[in-house]
Amino acid sequence: MAMPRYSKVTQLLSDLVSIPSVNPSLSTDQPSITGEEEVADYLSTYSRGLGVSIQRQAVLPNRRNILFRLKPKGKIKHRVMLTPHMDVVPAEEKSFKPKIKNGRLYGRGACDTKGSMAAFFQAFCDLAKHGPFPKQTEILFAGLVDEEFGQAGSRKLAKVGPKADLAIAGEPTGLKLITAHKGSLWLQLKTEGVAAHGATPENGKNAIEAMSRILRTLFQDYPRFLKERTHPLLGSPTLNIGRILGGTQPNIVADHCTIDLDRRTIPGEDEESVKQELKNLFKQQKLPIPEFVLSRSVPCLPLDTNPNLPFVQSLLRATKKRKTYGVSYFTDASPIAMGGTPAVVFGPGSITQAHAKNEWVQLEELDSAKAIILNFLQKLP
Ligand SMILES: [Zn+2]
Repeated sequence: MAMPRYSKVTQLLSDLVSIPSVNPSLSTDQPSITGEEEVADYLSTYSRGLGVSIQRQAVLPNRRNILFRLKPKGKIKHRVMLTPHMDVVPAEEKSFKPKIKNGRLYGRGACDTKGSMAAFFQAFCDLAKHGPFPKQTEILFAGLVDEEFGQAGSRKLAKVGPKADLAIAGEPTGLKLITAHKGSLWLQLKTEGVAAHGATPENGKNAIEAMSRILRTLFQDYPRFLKERTHPLLGSPTLNIGRILGGTQPNIVADHCTIDLDRRTIPGEDEESVKQELKNLFKQQKLPIPEFVLSRSVPCLPLDTNPNLPFVQSLLRATKKRKTYGVSYFTDASPIAMGGTPAVVFGPGSITQAHAKNEWVQLEELDSAKAIILNFLQKLP
């Protein structure tokens, strides 16, 4: 039987999916399928003979970003970066054997985000091979580590450079151009009580009871308060209470209780403003003021890139859509933007398939993503 013929980008994606690159911070018991090095090695072999320079950027032990550079014909006046991440979330072993069926490619990373990586890298290699080279714009493809955990790769790139006029983070956006996304603030709230014997609860002070009153406010009043605040592309901020812990055992009055919050922020909100509004709300309702602890070591701020920037506009024209969009999930675009490079998010596939057991991407969309990026790169100044 003759093998069906697939586009280069499809073959590239198929190869990338078959190289497991599970984020080591998410799966420590399967060392054989973790780490991004093998993907980086594959990409550098793939680009052999195209005259692009390759550089590695140490990020974490045994984990490095990989940077491919394509110089313009003349002096460098602008720079554009393609910045997909190389890590994927854990999956069963069979998910690393890509399958093509009904015009879709199935496998871990197919849409998050090896689909974007394949589309970006194939466009980059096509341009390197066939031109036309931009006159003044350097093109940089950066394969990043650790997006799915702490975004150490994009944070490092943002810190040490290089900077650019635009960075395109790869995520499954269904080929829409994303210029805004929410931030994510993890807060822990703690109440304290006084322990006493369970038979004489009147002698103690129950930390769980205090927390229960705070919870009622967080579930009932706070969402209404958040609904009043909106961003044109993102809508309203949200709150999820993801964990509660408290007390020791049934016959002891609980002397401590903690809850863990994931507060999705919109532009204009930050750690301080969120803490302050919660404190004010608790005060208003005469509730005990809990202790606030930030439970993540790195900031995850919202993204709000100006859609009118010339490079954003020319990418928008390449997508043949009329406006840019917002999404609620967090991406590498935010740390990159914090470092001073305007960043957007773009790629084939749907976020509803990302991290799903049965992850897939439509091959037609994959081809379109490649064509859009190539078209954009070919028109750079
Ligand atoms: Zn992703």
